[in-house]
Amino acid sequence: MKKTTPWLWPEKRWRAIVNRVRAGKALRPKQWPGGARCAVALSFDSDHETNELREAGESIGRLSQGQYGSRQGVPRILKLLAQHGVKATFFVPAVTARLYPEEQKRVVAEGHEVGIHGWIHERNSVLPKKAERELQMRSADVLEKITRVRPVGIRTPSWDFSPNTLAITKEMGLLYDSSLMADVDCYELLMDGRPTGVVELPVEWIRDDAVYFNMNRFAALRPYTPPEGVFDIFRRELDAAHLEGGIFQVTMHPHVIGYRSRLWIVDALIRHAKSKGKVWFATHAEVARYALENAAS
Ligand SMILES: [Zn+2]
Repeated sequence: MKKTTPWLWPEKRWRAIVNRVRAGKALRPKQWPGGARCAVALSFDSDHETNELREAGESIGRLSQGQYGSRQGVPRILKLLAQHGVKATFFVPAVTARLYPEEQKRVVAEGHEVGIHGWIHERNSVLPKKAERELQMRSADVLEKITRVRPVGIRTPSWDFSPNTLAITKEMGLLYDSSLMADVDCYELLMDGRPTGVVELPVEWIRDDAVYFNMNRFAALRPYTPPEGVFDIFRRELDAAHLEGGIFQVTMHPHVIGYRSRLWIVDALIRHAKSKGKVWFATHAEVARYALENAAS
């Protein structure tokens, strides 16, 4: 741990840290396509075995949980989305894509989006710039080679940025990032105070299934929220987004949500959104592009 004395920092220093990456111009359209009041952006992070590999783990038990994500989770999710005729976004580490190329091809063939999610779910925030840049670019190439679609968006593994991440994302010409939390609506990312043209489609841990369901076998404390409780939180987020004319964005994981006792949450959310009416189900890329091009000034 670095020895630091932040209370002694001059203003210039703390301002520079805060300004590295910040929320800039709000990108909130007056309305969504077709006069919709609310954009619904469902996302699934297909981490699968990289959940174990990212920490250099080799536990066969935990790897099998990761395999469930591809073997059972994704097919169940795709079936549900097809039944409802709803599109979603899957953020896929390159190693997952290499382990399961057919899965990624199917996801794209069924009309969904595949976005960048690191190489092996590495902690990008501690990587040297050269390694981070090379991995981020190589990940995009791997996804493109498998799906034949060039990804336009990134969700960084574990939702953090190094001081270099945004510069790399900008250099790659990506449309959007979906890893930060400064708003409920889309916004333009600023780098050292300057606009980058990169759209942020914000996430929040509140709207992430793993937060409520993950279990650590060897920890005494096992925070656990009943599926009904998780649905209630997500539904309230959706209801308020609908009321405000905003975005309901949610992050789920095939190896977390794709179980018999939990997948109903996704089903119930989609049904609930449809019953409210005037909702636009869209991929993250579609939401980001629309927000960018139709932001109310
Ligand atoms: Zn992930």
